[in-house]
Amino acid sequence: MISVKQLNKRFGDKVVLDDISLTIGEGEVVAIIGPSGSGKSTLLRCLNLLEKPESGVIQIGDVALDTASYNAKEEHALRGQTAMVFQNYSLFRNKTALENITEGLIMVKKMAKAQANQTGMQLLELVGMAPQAHQYPVTLSGGQQQRVSIARALAVKPRAILFDEPTSALDPERVHEVLQVMKSLAQQKTTMVIVTHEMQFAKEVADRVIFMADGHIVEQGPAEQVISFSDNPITRRFLRQMT
Ligand code: ADP
Ligand code: MG
Repeated sequence: MISVKQLNKRFGDKVVLDDISLTIGEGEVVAIIGPSGSGKSTLLRCLNLLEKPESGVIQIGDVALDTASYNAKEEHALRGQTAMVFQNYSLFRNKTALENITEGLIMVKKMAKAQANQTGMQLLELVGMAPQAHQYPVTLSGGQQQRVSIARALAVKPRAILFDEPTSALDPERVHEVLQVMKSLAQQKTTMVIVTHEMQFAKEVADRVIFMADGHIVEQGPAEQVISFSDNPITRRFLRQMT
């Protein structure tokens, strides 16, 4: 579903992604872990060209492009393959939960309003937020806002959802409800790439874990293997700090 070949990204002189290659299968759930500053967010942002890599080939679904030379049409096509869920929910503050979802369906997908509303309500149902459909973000908890963000990401029927630390801005008692929604998506074989510090969650839900440090993939493998049984000293040192 996703294939990245020799992706390179620099900020000024600093190499942030150093020749990253990876593949992610359809329906696979991959957790990306690693120290702060290792390039995890940049990698996700390069996948939808929110950041422009210097070189490398990205293929998602049936769209492939060479990041060294692409046109606006290819960029648009690649971006349409994924949806992103951010740490800070990033809902439109002046729109209700439902409107946050239907906006893109009506404006971008040109869906009729009644149908968009119906789709929106189904998605809110799926994340347990139907009762709050007509509330504004400011009246919702962080966990509730994040569940609406996930529903919004699902609305465009992406080939894969990219999560960047979806629970790290939440109050501890709100983390569980968001992880629960992600878990159910995983069970439905949604392709997901999840940058996370939740090691227990990664172990339970991810098919595979990629450990990054300093712009490199240090190691990857089955979640349990990497998180519980890695014999790589860099991985072990990181994991010891996490627990
Ligand atoms: P992570 O998500 O793993 O914490 P990031 O991808 O956010 O890491 O950052 C990787 C490195 O790139 C860090 O050294 C960070 O300071 C740097 N960086 C990230 N975004 C920018 C930017 N827009 N401009 C300059 N440097 C950046
Ligand atoms: Mg980050």
